[in-house]
Amino acid sequence: MSVHLLGFPWDASSSYARGPALAPPVIRAMLFSEASSPWSISGVDASEVISAYDFADLPGDGAQAHAAILDRITATLRAGAKPLSLGGDHSVTYPILKAMKDKHGPLNILHVDAHTDLYEEFEGDRYSHACPFARAIEDGCVGKLVQVGLRSIAPQCRSFGEKHGVIMLGAEAIDEIPFESLTAPLYVSIDLDGLDPAYAPGVSHPEPGGLTTREVLRLLDNLRAAPVGADIVELNPERDINMMTANLAARLVKELAALMSD
Ligand code: MN
Ligand code: MN
Repeated sequence: MSVHLLGFPWDASSSYARGPALAPPVIRAMLFSEASSPWSISGVDASEVISAYDFADLPGDGAQAHAAILDRITATLRAGAKPLSLGGDHSVTYPILKAMKDKHGPLNILHVDAHTDLYEEFEGDRYSHACPFARAIEDGCVGKLVQVGLRSIAPQCRSFGEKHGVIMLGAEAIDEIPFESLTAPLYVSIDLDGLDPAYAPGVSHPEPGGLTTREVLRLLDNLRAAPVGADIVELNPERDINMMTANLAARLVKELAALMSD
């Protein structure tokens, strides 16, 4: 199945630094840069798998931006393609999952992040980038949620997660991921701060002690179902060093596109 690459330039739901709205065109420029190649590690040509690009601007109002994201995911699904989305901050994942649920029902989700993003609200905003998985759970978008790379868990997020059966794993616990639970319909959400800042310095909330690039690639290799959708969020180009996080994001686009094309 073909993949549509969507860019969601939104960072007004970030709790600290702005910048992720700049990410989608930066990742796109890296993706097929002459410094690299279009091949996934397994030998799939991502430039052939990705059949359409949608990098339109979003409205400035939060509710309107959510509606626009939902509409664009729905349009991709109606076209018979799978959405691979580039943030933006992690708040974009909630409207994405709402649209995905309308087609697929509750999704099983592999979520790579330093943070649970399970706040009931953050700084008065229920749609903050600290909240998308709380909203998605409340709306019935989530079957099994497996989070990995966690190393900054607020107590109220831990209790929300425990109440809803979320598997919350630290970066040291990748061998405990229950891949057998991550069945179809499978969705993958990668917050780049789930990786160690040594590999992904270009994020707004760097937390030492994270996953390596190789570990994240191995997680993707171990998936037993082809994802029906995925996102890569929280690249902040203003914090990046020598484009290394943008380059990592481009690698993840190629790997996810290859998996999704199955
Ligand atoms: Mn996040
Ligand atoms: Mn995070």
